[in-house]
Amino acid sequence: MTTRTSEVCIIGGGLTGCSTAYALARRKCPVVVLERGFVGSQSSGANFGNLRLQFRNLKQLPLALRAQRMWEEIERELGESVEFAQTGHVMPAVSADHLRQIDEHAAACKPYGLEVEVLDRAETLRRWPFLGDIVLGSSFSPRDATVNSRLVCPAYARAARRLGAEIVEQITVTGVERIAGGGFRIRTDRDLVVECAHLVNAAGAWAGPLAAQFGETVPDFAAGPVQMVTEPVPRFVWPVIHAVDGGILFRQTARGNILIAGHPRVPVDAESRRTRVPPSKATMNMARLALIAPCMKHHNIIRAWTGIEGYLPDMLPVFGPSRTTEGLLHAFAFCGHGLQIGPAVGAVLAELILDGGTQTPIAPFAIDRFDDATVADKAKLKHEFDAEILERKLPR
Ligand SMILES: Cc1cc2nc3c(=O)[nH]c(=O)nc-3n(C[C@H](O)[C@H](O)[C@H](O)COP(=O)(O)OP(=O)(O)OC[C@H]3O[C@@H](n4cnc5c(N)ncnc54)[C@H](O)[C@@H]3O)c2cc1C
Repeated sequence: MTTRTSEVCIIGGGLTGCSTAYALARRKCPVVVLERGFVGSQSSGANFGNLRLQFRNLKQLPLALRAQRMWEEIERELGESVEFAQTGHVMPAVSADHLRQIDEHAAACKPYGLEVEVLDRAETLRRWPFLGDIVLGSSFSPRDATVNSRLVCPAYARAARRLGAEIVEQITVTGVERIAGGGFRIRTDRDLVVECAHLVNAAGAWAGPLAAQFGETVPDFAAGPVQMVTEPVPRFVWPVIHAVDGGILFRQTARGNILIAGHPRVPVDAESRRTRVPPSKATMNMARLALIAPCMKHHNIIRAWTGIEGYLPDMLPVFGPSRTTEGLLHAFAFCGHGLQIGPAVGAVLAELILDGGTQTPIAPFAIDRFDDATVADKAKLKHEFDAEILERKLPR
C-alpha cells in the first residue's frame, strides 16, 4: 500500500475541488484531489453554464460578485478558453407579481454594487423582438455571463497540475479516519492512502455521509435540473433569457444550438449515479417556450439530460469549517448555483486553510444552521421540485 502525505486532501474533483486545488497550488500548498470518475464528470460538467448574478439569494451576493470578478479574468488566469461570454441576462416578467419582484430585487442589489436595469414592455420587446406578447417587462443584468461547463473543470485541473497539485482520477474514497494527534487518513479503492492535515469534503451530492461521520448531519438531498438542447439554428438570441419564476430559461451557444432548462427538477438515483429525463418534460418546456418566445415553437430538441446535484431545504450550500473537527472543511450542496460561485468558493477555502479566515462573508452557509424548520419557502420549493422529491426529503 502506498501512503502519500500532503498538507491538504480534497475529496471530489468537481469545480469545487478543482478550483480549491488551483487556489492552494497557486500559493504553493501541497494538495491531492481524489476523484471517483473524471474531473467535472458530475454536476460540474453537466450544467447549463449560467453565471447569473441577478435574482441570486442576497446572502450569496458578496461571494457571487467575488466569483464574477474571477470569471471575468478566467481565461487569462487558466491560460485557455472556457467559452466565457458576457452576454448579460434578461428576466422577462409575465405577471404583475413578477414586475414587483423585479423592482424589489433590482433595488436590493444596488447596495451590493450590482446594477440591474428595469425595462418596461416596449423597451424589452425593442431589445429582444423574439419575445412573445405575454411579456410585460423585464430586468437586465449586463455583467451576467455564460461558460461552457464541459471545459471549466478540466481547465482548472490542468492549471492546478501545472502548479504542482496532484489530481488522481478514477479513484474512490472508501473511508476517512482521524490520525491520533491530528490530521486525517483517507483510504481508497486503489493502492493509495493519503494522510493530510486538512481535509476538504467537496463530494457534491455524495458529501452528506462524510459530514455525518463527523457528527454533522444535514438534510441534504439529490435532484436533477432538466436540460435540453435543440438542433443548431441561425443566431438570434444573445443574452440568457430566464423567466422570473424559473419555469423556462434558454440561451444560444456560439454553434447555434439553443440550450433550454426549466423547473421542476426531477428525481435522480445518486447511489447508482443514473438519471432519467421523462419525455413529458420536453413537451412542457416546448409549451412554455412557445409562449415566451413563439418563434422557437417549431425548433427540434435533439438531446435531454440532467445531473445529480445536492440541495438543502433553504437553498443555500454548506460551505466553511466543520464545527466538530479541526482541519475538516465542507463545501457541498450548492443547490443548482455552484458553477457561478465556484471560483470564489475555491479561493475562500484556500484562505480558510492557509490564513485561518476570509474577508468574504460565509456565515449564512454554516453547517450547524439547520433545525427542523429550516425550509426557505415551501411554495417555492413545490414549484421548483417534482412532488416525489419533496415528499421524501422535506420536513413536514
Ligand atoms: C443540470 C445542471 C444544471 C446546472 N446549471 C447551473 C448553472 O447554470 N449555473 C450554476 O451556477 N450552477 C448550475 N448547476 C449547479 C452546479 O453545476 C453545481 O452546483 C456545481 O457544479 C457543484 O460542483 P461540485 O464540485 O460541488 O460538485 P460535483 O461537480 O458533483 O463534484 C463532486 C465530485 O465528487 C466526486 N465524488 C463523490 N464521492 C466521491 C468519493 N467517495 N470518492 C471520490 N470522489 C467522489 C464525484 O465523482 C464528483 O465528480 C447546475 C447543476 C446541474 C446538475
